[in-house]
Amino acid sequence: MSKQLYELGDRPPLGEVPEKMHAWLIRADRFGKPTEAFQKEVVNTPAIADDEVLVHVMAAGINYNNVWAGLGFPVNVIAARNKGGEPEDFHIGGSDASGIVYAIGKDVTNVKVGDEVVMHCGQWNRNCEWVQNGGDPMYSPSFKIWGYETNYGSFAQFTKVQGHQCMPKPKHMNWEEAAAYTLVAATAWRMLHGWGANSIKKGDVALIWGGAGGLGSMAIQIAKAVGATSVAMVSGEDKFDYCMKLGAKGCINRNDFDHWGMLPHWKDNAGYAKWLKGVRGFGAKIWEVLGEKRAPNIVFEHPGETTIPSSIFVCETGGMVVVCAGTSGYNATVDLRYLWMRQKRLQGSHFANAVQCNEMNELALRGLIDPCMSRAFTYEELPLAHQLMHDNKHPHGNMSVLIGATEFGLGTSGKPPVAIVHPTLPKGDVHTTPHPYPMSTPLPDIAEGEAITIADDGSKVSDLMHRGIISCTPDDVLGTVAKIMVDKEIHAVVVMDGQGKAIGVVSQTDMVLARQGRSPQEARSMRAGDIMTPGCATCDAEMLLSDAVSLMTGRRMHRLVVTENDRPVGVISMTDVVRKIIGE
Ligand code: NAP
Repeated sequence: MSKQLYELGDRPPLGEVPEKMHAWLIRADRFGKPTEAFQKEVVNTPAIADDEVLVHVMAAGINYNNVWAGLGFPVNVIAARNKGGEPEDFHIGGSDASGIVYAIGKDVTNVKVGDEVVMHCGQWNRNCEWVQNGGDPMYSPSFKIWGYETNYGSFAQFTKVQGHQCMPKPKHMNWEEAAAYTLVAATAWRMLHGWGANSIKKGDVALIWGGAGGLGSMAIQIAKAVGATSVAMVSGEDKFDYCMKLGAKGCINRNDFDHWGMLPHWKDNAGYAKWLKGVRGFGAKIWEVLGEKRAPNIVFEHPGETTIPSSIFVCETGGMVVVCAGTSGYNATVDLRYLWMRQKRLQGSHFANAVQCNEMNELALRGLIDPCMSRAFTYEELPLAHQLMHDNKHPHGNMSVLIGATEFGLGTSGKPPVAIVHPTLPKGDVHTTPHPYPMSTPLPDIAEGEAITIADDGSKVSDLMHRGIISCTPDDVLGTVAKIMVDKEIHAVVVMDGQGKAIGVVSQTDMVLARQGRSPQEARSMRAGDIMTPGCATCDAEMLLSDAVSLMTGRRMHRLVVTENDRPVGVISMTDVVRKIIGE
């Protein structure tokens, strides 16, 4: 007689699905650090739909997504699913796994009971009109990351996946190695191979950011497999050997340069010249590593805000910068001249569709992808593995946890097709990416954006503004404008036309930029109208202070001219807001 529940490691006879299963659960009442959020429980084994497969999980991969799921931030994944009609008040995470097929729905044709599989983490509704019409499921509104945006991930004896998620497990890998690579390798595959004419090809040069990281280590191997040359970016020379053994031609230590970050304003000649010097030095370093003056045809991006300006600059004419994350920030600045004049492409990319996952997995089956597994944990240690990640103390490389496998190193059933030399992962646990945001982020849309409630005490601009406008005319010379600023101890002067209309602002920054490349005499004799920032940003005195602040932050401004009945009557500045915050 079949048992209702099997203990871990006591694998049910093939095809027998017990009513209950062991799992690590996250519940809303214990959202918090991983060691508290994850608790062992016994739950019902999920039923499967016609297009689904039930897999007995042998090992699961660890990703940052489920640190966020446990924190309940930035998305409460349980509440989000309940809102969508799913009844379960818990979350079973896990977006990477290896295991054995135990049951299949009637429409599943690609696997059968007993198959050893690895699973990719892309799910979509097969009835979605876009998908049914042959569209890339990655663009379907129904697309979800299994084990983060969906329940019944791989941190349980059984997981529920869609048939297409199952792919053959490489026979030469053990269970924990096989559970480690799919998410990162498939993401890297789409980034490099998914973008038409710009996809990577033999002879190309690829610049790979975070070469020793999860995505980067896969990107180096994928580039090598196609016959491309890669240059790996890392933050220390201790990672050079690792990236070279994976297949990089050479490495660059990003700490040898200091021009990273947002672009200086294009009007800031001196700042821009300094940036240009830095980025050209970086480009020359790429040439040095390559041994020839070639620019990368493809730049593999995920740090985002700090690196995009350089990535766009060094990318070959007609080449592509492909980005799947903004680990250092989301406001990437682009000098559009380089984008349009040299006809480069800045391409977003997110995970991969089933075809691409299988193309990637072919490489793994052929022994051309090392899973770069750094450490495997026991079932009991699952919260610890996430806690290390939460505390940024996890080892470099990809981590796995045993679920059904009773010991480390089990599950290999064949020799690697090619001789693999496992590269030694860089020692140490110093991470430069503090807490990457979850790979999937719900974004407000034109149609479905929910109003965000902001904490606001109802203050109005009129409560804080300074009445009276200190102004000049467009014909005033800068010497005069500067004297007004100094005498009145203000940072900007409003430029008014003959009809009393505010037509621009001359700020201290405008004055300083006007001096660049000119003698003091030349600068002093320029006119306010020549250097002002035109189109004076205004707000009504009755506007909510919070709205005025948004206007300023959005435009990166420090002050707004305040109007009443469309007439300028005063100024509100960030300094006024700061004074309010500290209660002055
Ligand atoms: P990872 O293993 O932590 O590696 C990221 C690497 O980026 C680090 O090792 C670090 O290498 C480098 N880095 C960090 N900060 C940097 C900076 N300011 N400038 C330049 N390089 C920097 O993470 P991962 O698994 O590769 O994932 C990277 C990002 O992609 C994460 O944000 C992740 O959430 C996202 N992701 C997105 C998808 C998707 O489908 N959209 C899928 C997977 C991952 P060095 O310190 O050696 O330079």
